[in-house]
Amino acid sequence: MARCPVCGRPLDWRDVVEQLIARVGKEEGKRILTDKESFMKALDGAVIRCPACGEEFYGRVLPRDEAEKVFVLLNDFKGSVNWDEMKVRLRLNSLLALDTMLEEWDRRQKSGSGKV
Ligand SMILES: [Zn+2]
Repeated sequence: MARCPVCGRPLDWRDVVEQLIARVGKEEGKRILTDKESFMKALDGAVIRCPACGEEFYGRVLPRDEAEKVFVLLNDFKGSVNWDEMKVRLRLNSLLALDTMLEEWDRRQKSGSGKV
């Protein structure tokens, strides 16, 4: 789970992505959401503010595997971002949690049956 490196509280990916697109602007935001490499690069260099403690940090401290999944989720769902209001419509944290749960379940099924 993504956490603030300063206070350790969990971060909402929806909020992180909204901060990112607010920082790069609408046009650039639309562009980076279609290209994973650009998205990761923009996130790495973006200054994100923790809503809980107000401290700022770089996006590169966030878990990379989660950031990649966030990118995929935003692309999988049509209309995931409301560009008029620059808001993310998806509950990214819930989707990430579900994704992790399914992976865990899948792993258990495989190890339980003895198949690889
Ligand atoms: Zn914090």
